[in-house]
Amino acid sequence: MINKINGTILNSFYVCKRKTWFIAHELSPDLDSPLLEIGRLIEENYYGRSEKGINLLNIKIDVILRNRQTTVVAEIKKSSKNIKPAIMQLAFYLLRLKEQGIIAIGEILIPKERRKISVSLTEELENELNEAIEDIERIIMQEKPPQMERIKFCTNCAYREFCLS
Ligand code: SF4
Repeated sequence: MINKINGTILNSFYVCKRKTWFIAHELSPDLDSPLLEIGRLIEENYYGRSEKGINLLNIKIDVILRNRQTTVVAEIKKSSKNIKPAIMQLAFYLLRLKEQGIIAIGEILIPKERRKISVSLTEELENELNEAIEDIERIIMQEKPPQMERIKFCTNCAYREFCLS
């Protein structure tokens, strides 16, 4: 089951556990959602010259920057609001890479704010991540999604039509 967990699923766990179940069970969100489109546009317009959208070890990383000593994996985000899910997603990638012997550091790039947030895989973060992975496994093994609870993230969620109709 752990192989089923990817960065998107991990990220969603810190937003809404019901969403986690939907994504893990491959329920398609509203693909016309303007929020998904904004994300795509930011990626295309700000990072045209970088390596982007790279699949490495079954991880889809937005951008990889390299110099002689360091590998930096970066995720592009629309805003620094509610940054915790993005930090954990990036930490998850760093953990996967570490398991393969690749030591990397992470950066969250927020082009609209001209901001960069560094993420390192500390022991504390790694423990938190492992606990989250166990919880996610429990959630996605359930036959039904967790009950709908209206939260602040529903407003901008690609599944909102599904949940709120
Ligand atoms: S609409 Fe709300 S309850 Fe439904 S998946 Fe999105 S955040 Fe979760």
